[in-house]
Amino acid sequence: MNDLAAHHAPLAGALTDAVRRVIDSGWFVLGREVAGFEEAFAAYCGVPHAVGVANGTDAIELALAGVGIGRGDRVALVANAGGYGTTALLALGAEPVYVDVDEDTATLDPALLDRETFDAVLVTHLYGRLADLPAILEVAARHGAPVVEDCAQAHGASRDGRRAGSWGDAAAFSFYPTKNLGALGDGGAVVTASAGVAERVRRLRQYGWDRKYHQVTGPARNSRLDEVQAAVLSVKLPHLDGWNAARVAVAARYRAAIRHPKLTLPEVDAPGHVGHLYVLRCADRDALSAHLRAHGVAHDVHYPLPDHRQPVHGDRFAGLELPATERLCAEVLSLPCHPELPAEQVDRVAAAVNAFGAGTENWKGQPCTP
Ligand SMILES: *Cc1c(COP(=O)(O)O)cnc(C)c1O
Repeated sequence: MNDLAAHHAPLAGALTDAVRRVIDSGWFVLGREVAGFEEAFAAYCGVPHAVGVANGTDAIELALAGVGIGRGDRVALVANAGGYGTTALLALGAEPVYVDVDEDTATLDPALLDRETFDAVLVTHLYGRLADLPAILEVAARHGAPVVEDCAQAHGASRDGRRAGSWGDAAAFSFYPTKNLGALGDGGAVVTASAGVAERVRRLRQYGWDRKYHQVTGPARNSRLDEVQAAVLSVKLPHLDGWNAARVAVAARYRAAIRHPKLTLPEVDAPGHVGHLYVLRCADRDALSAHLRAHGVAHDVHYPLPDHRQPVHGDRFAGLELPATERLCAEVLSLPCHPELPAEQVDRVAAAVNAFGAGTENWKGQPCTP
């Protein structure tokens, strides 16, 4: 699905220099490298403030806390985005209000959002595509609720020239290694146009301190981006747009090569899409998965079990039905899509997909030997 060694090989010299610079500095947590990356990443997103944190899930939690969400507050979100938002809400003691998605884009449906009551909206830009932000912001404003963007799959994604992270009251990014911009380990950031939100998140990421050993707010935590990861991210950030274009080119090649009556292909050619994942739909998804496994083709499902059906909730959401979300969870399948994927491998994957159901395998997807 990914080739992180190939991804970093051309940068080995620059990355080694960056890590050595940190070692030689003798300063490893919240120093010049973090401040430098925060400034560069904020500018990239088109907002004045970025605050480095330990990972993307913490970024969601701290962004929500930063806009004033806490225990008992109701937060609207989708249930098809991997459960990270739910993890953050449960940590905050906030209440998930699951809203169904628009089936074509797999992102939050603004009309359904309008029917709910909520104190904030967490909107996920799934697979590299921006959700319908203009409509969502309009609904949220009428409900008097702040909007937090989950941009963990959308670094650099844009609409009308405005990037992911610059639309809501705050936004969360992950720099997990397989994201469009990844660290050599965990990392995350909250970006915001609000100086007040940035200040609150800066306190919340470090014990609730406004200055050393002076705790002014809580519940806070320790969630810091470290100097080594910030130095690595500063080396990688200038390459992000090129990598995003390479992902979109892989997606375009799949679109041209895959021809199958049982499959629905994603619209990665939509403007501003950054091709984080190439997710197609197939009513016979599990058979397609077995077929690809038998042909040695890597693939994954993002994501098989929606949040409202996760065992952590017990029967709390047993009566809740989200038909589009549930259909998508049963039908989605992701093909390899990363910047270093060679064209001939894209073609091999496409050929294997096209051969699905051609009568060459048994019910387990194993090839029938003649
Ligand atoms: C990866 C991801 C996260 C969480 O990021 P971590 O750094 O792994 O905590 C949050 N939301 C989405 C949509 C993601 O894909």
